[in-house]
Amino acid sequence: MDMQPIKARSGNHNLENYEQTYNNFKWDEAKANFTWSETGKVNIAYETIDKHAADPAKKDKAALIYSSPDREESLTFEQLKKKSNQFANVLKNQGIEKGDRVFLFMHRSPEFYASFLGILKTGAIAGPLFEAFMEQAVRDRLEDSEAKMLITTPDLLDRVPQDELPNLEKIILVGGDDDSRYISFEKEMENASEDFEIEWVDLEDGMLLHYTSGSTGKPKGVYHVHNAMIQHYQTGKWVLDLKEDDVYWCTADPGWVTGTSYGIFAPWLNGVTNVIRGGRFSPDDWYGTIAEQNVSVWYSAPTAFRKLLSAGEETAKKHDLSSLRHILSVGEPLNPEVITWGLKAFDLRIHDTWWMTETGAMLICNYPSVDMRPGSMGKPFPGVEAAIVDNEGNKLPANQMGNLAIREGWPSMMRAIWNNPGKYESYFINGWYVSGDSAYQDEDGYFWFQGRLDDVINTSGERVGPFEVESKLIEHEAVAEAGVIGKPDPERGEIIKAFITLREGYSESDELREDIRQFVKKGLSAHAAPREIEIKDTIPKTRSGKIMRRLLKSWELGLPTGDTSTLEE
Ligand code: ATP
Ligand code: MG
Repeated sequence: MDMQPIKARSGNHNLENYEQTYNNFKWDEAKANFTWSETGKVNIAYETIDKHAADPAKKDKAALIYSSPDREESLTFEQLKKKSNQFANVLKNQGIEKGDRVFLFMHRSPEFYASFLGILKTGAIAGPLFEAFMEQAVRDRLEDSEAKMLITTPDLLDRVPQDELPNLEKIILVGGDDDSRYISFEKEMENASEDFEIEWVDLEDGMLLHYTSGSTGKPKGVYHVHNAMIQHYQTGKWVLDLKEDDVYWCTADPGWVTGTSYGIFAPWLNGVTNVIRGGRFSPDDWYGTIAEQNVSVWYSAPTAFRKLLSAGEETAKKHDLSSLRHILSVGEPLNPEVITWGLKAFDLRIHDTWWMTETGAMLICNYPSVDMRPGSMGKPFPGVEAAIVDNEGNKLPANQMGNLAIREGWPSMMRAIWNNPGKYESYFINGWYVSGDSAYQDEDGYFWFQGRLDDVINTSGERVGPFEVESKLIEHEAVAEAGVIGKPDPERGEIIKAFITLREGYSESDELREDIRQFVKKGLSAHAAPREIEIKDTIPKTRSGKIMRRLLKSWELGLPTGDTSTLEE
């Protein structure tokens, strides 16, 4: 779809002049916002919560609003400071020290957030695991990280193979019965002091271990340090556009990097009220959360937007969504069709942001004050140099597809792949961090995502990114979701095969398939039109909501499926 640029709306944006800021900004300026500038020692948990609790004007402000079908609770900055202090004391009493890995395997709850912050206050490294992981996934991650302690809930306990994890010394159970094999969260918290002497650390000390989504292979343990807060703070200010009175909601689970960088750090570093929703996705519940909590800034993902789009406009109309002023997206390319829908449903632009677990924070973004080109992931954040490079790390000219790369040295960059220095080294060529995504940059500096390198299709000598074809497919009235792969073909190298799911009210037929094929042919090009279209009930996705093209491909070719620990049921 060749959509016209969508003009920026004038207003009071934190970042008013992108070009000028991009040309002048240095990361050192951001550092001045933090307490460490005097001591050289830091702790991200202090900056996130305690700093606001120490401010008489802020301490009684709601930091966390938890809302789920069976529980509503709210904690002020002061209360969250105390609870996380208590948990830090619990850990200290159990022998946890700086640098130890302490993992969390639990549902989103106020206890999760207090525990997570408590871990950081001791100087230990937090490892959040997504609640839906099964035994193999839990074992792999606890084994690889050599986690010393785990915090979990009774209903998840049977997925923790305790006897096979020699490094795992203790398990803290939240909400369990008395059981001498485990430490009771409630009992320990009751006896723990609300005062805690924070472990001050260096900017380069570890704070977080996140395993990637597993879209392309076995998940990697990505190691982050306290220094990342500089970028969490600054992107929260300029991209999320957070202001004092905002109510912010990030829909990602803290088991994925978006759920920590932008579900914990960015909002609280900016002192903003943070809404956490428990429970499963449903369009009515999600719209209900926006309406009831008066959410003003909303960060979500294309997979959720596509589901809301499929649920129809009537569903949206039932709810008062007028509190919203800024919407953002991450995780997968944002289809132009979704942006068009967003303009209708919310009268707002949906701002795409591009980054990865490895990068720790946003790198290429759309900003409230900058004109947006639908389908483009935007422009680099100030302080970030992005380019398209060839396989030797040489810059390519405008409009040429190649490796999306970032010049080394942004604050939130991972510092290691846990237990795998070779893998870490392999990301870098010639001073560039090479992302594994392919893209091009237009003459005006906008970046356009084409696909993961592994996913790019070579058909009759043409390189086709699956994203473009998928975006076209879902513009067709019958198509709900689409995953596109290249299928080996003796004549053409590869042919394009599309897997689609249908919207309600449509059923499979040869006419429909042909109609869809013609639709892509007319809208994109003949060579991009799928030669094969297979209709499925669901498209395989990671638990973080990303289409797993590698699985579609291995099923299609009858190859081994590889690591499926993050596959959604
Ligand atoms: P794995 O590395 O284990 O295969 P993953 O790459 O999906 O999994 P994440 O770090 O969660 O794990 O996701 C980062 C990737 O998600 C990016 O490399 C990119 O392919 C995709 N992505 C994220 N945001 C966007 C976006 N705005 N547009 C296009 N792609 C995006
Ligand atoms: Mg990746």
